[in-house]
Amino acid sequence: MAEPTVYELSVAGRQGVDLPLLDVPESPLPDGLARADNGLPELAQLDVVRHFLALSQRNFGVDTGFYPLGSCTMKYNPKITEELARLPGFARSHPLQPPETVPGNLALMHQLQQWLAEIGGFAAVSLQPAAGAQGELTALLMMRAYHAERGETGRNQVLIPDAAHGTNPASTAMAGLDVLEIPSDSRGNIDRQALRAACDDTVLALMLTLPNTLGLFEEEIAEVIDLVHGCGGLVYGDGANMNALAGVMRPGELGLDLMHYNLHKTFATPHGGGGPGSGPLGASDRLRDYLPGPIVVAKPGAALEAPEYAFSTPDKSIGRMCTYFGNFGVFVRSHAYIRMLGAAGLRDNSYHAVLNANYLRVKLRELYPVPFDRLNMHEFVCQGRPEGSDVRALDVSKRLMDFGFHPPTNYFPLIVPEALMIEPTETENKETLDAFAAAMGSIAEEALATPERLRTAPHETPVRRLDEVQAARQLVLIDPVTGRTAVEG
Ligand SMILES: *Cc1c(COP(=O)(O)O)cnc(C)c1O
Repeated sequence: MAEPTVYELSVAGRQGVDLPLLDVPESPLPDGLARADNGLPELAQLDVVRHFLALSQRNFGVDTGFYPLGSCTMKYNPKITEELARLPGFARSHPLQPPETVPGNLALMHQLQQWLAEIGGFAAVSLQPAAGAQGELTALLMMRAYHAERGETGRNQVLIPDAAHGTNPASTAMAGLDVLEIPSDSRGNIDRQALRAACDDTVLALMLTLPNTLGLFEEEIAEVIDLVHGCGGLVYGDGANMNALAGVMRPGELGLDLMHYNLHKTFATPHGGGGPGSGPLGASDRLRDYLPGPIVVAKPGAALEAPEYAFSTPDKSIGRMCTYFGNFGVFVRSHAYIRMLGAAGLRDNSYHAVLNANYLRVKLRELYPVPFDRLNMHEFVCQGRPEGSDVRALDVSKRLMDFGFHPPTNYFPLIVPEALMIEPTETENKETLDAFAAAMGSIAEEALATPERLRTAPHETPVRRLDEVQAARQLVLIDPVTGRTAVEG
């Protein structure tokens, strides 16, 4: 049932604001400005407060409940980072200001570049890409430029494991390159026989997600990287899952040539609803000159205790990927987060993220089959169809909402039928994990005893099961002036 709009609640003559007493001479508004028919709703302040507060409570977020949406790292974002991002010196600086007038902003970006390089084990980092997917595209363009400079223009194949996130093949298509899918083996690793067969002088790169979207660490990673490098290809790391590794191991040291970081996942920035994100890119020594600019560099000659910074674009840079300097507000949050935790804190977080995910896998695996049942990293994938039942992962997910939990990621990765991808993150305590496991247990019982209860779920939420395709295709819009609804589609 739709909530009435403020326009429907409007009663002529009600008023919600008290204007201050006039302290200047009264004068009439210019013609056309004062209109009686402006269509604004008329409500008392309390009506407005109740209306919008009620609407806000229909939302679900990490701040209201457990949100195990696999691959998305919906961890709790400490509020201090929000406060810092709102400091006027950061929030009110303008991207067109001369860099000399915002030395603090440059210092922050420089330090963040260096910290990310250190965490990932890379020679240099560009903060340009505005999201993980854009980091992928950036990397593909850089790798193409690298090969082109060597006269190797026939390298158009990008090897992508079948467990990969959909953005990997999408970025590849956007770069005008060809996708060659590599199957997974029975342990959830890249099938090395298939990889070996694919490695030739048409290979531009392998896109390697580490740990992969099954939540598994590539067991023969050194061999995988050697195979690709051996045929002259490059290895790109999809670093969206760094929440398992930050502070523990540095992918660059394994020989990865490039990797993007998802600041909005691993380094705590709210990212429900699609943004703003940030997907900085780390590069090894041989690719750093191709990074998109501008990058912040330390000015040579400045005193050690009074460093000065400037923007600079690497020699062979592929150019800009983003307007201005990237999503600066995200940089402030991630900088504060890394600084607050330090190396030891980041490492502890990774350990706890991995521990939490393994705890849940073992608690749930008797009820929900886990196809690749081995030690996982920060997430794992089970099947949302308890043994002997024919409910679907979607039904389990919808029923979970009645228990007050956000559903896990559904039907991804594609290689696991009825996939539920569960990422608890390090910020959840044991009681929450136990409550979630208990809810999953009740749902597994219902799946056998009263499956209809699942198929018609959710029952307790403000709206029932939605037609998600219709909801996206046929948007219902509310005209801000008249309050009338319009259906698009
Ligand atoms: C989230 C994610 C991406 C894409 O990152 P965006 O910032 O959403 O563009 C790529 N790969 C994996 C494994 C991811 O989880």
